[in-house]
Amino acid sequence: MKFIADMMLGRLARWLRLYGYDTLYGIKEDDRILEVAKKEGRIILTRDSELARKARKLEVRVILIESNSFEDQVRQLMREGIQFNELFPENARCPKCNGPIVRVRKEDIRDKVPEKVYEAYDEFYVCLNCGQVYWPGKQWREMIKIDKRIRDISKLSGRDHQSEVP
Ligand SMILES: [Zn+2]
Repeated sequence: MKFIADMMLGRLARWLRLYGYDTLYGIKEDDRILEVAKKEGRIILTRDSELARKARKLEVRVILIESNSFEDQVRQLMREGIQFNELFPENARCPKCNGPIVRVRKEDIRDKVPEKVYEAYDEFYVCLNCGQVYWPGKQWREMIKIDKRIRDISKLSGRDHQSEVP
């Protein structure tokens, strides 16, 4: 399952990448979004009902996102049947560029991260496309918290149709 998100959905696009979904973001023109979605079999995510209408006419799968709140947007996708597996660096795509992320040896990134970070962590990942280095630091822990909150509220509301992660 691959996505293309409109310009209103930058945060959602970054998160879909973190959850491991190939997600394009940054194309401004509706016609171009429609063209790429059709050609590459991508689901369009949009806040724009006009774009959604055009997509349906072209028989391109589209999800009209109802909320401005990022967490509600994820919950809507869960209700639409999209699986959200546990956040896990090795399954993630680069939130900046959508490139694949791989684990690297600590020595390989020595000159690419601050000394303090190098000392404090043993686990490092790098984006094969843009070269961005990632480690399971404070930001990652924040994301795990947000992910947990989304799931908990989703369960409380009883609208969570996704299956449990084994
Ligand atoms: Zn990247």
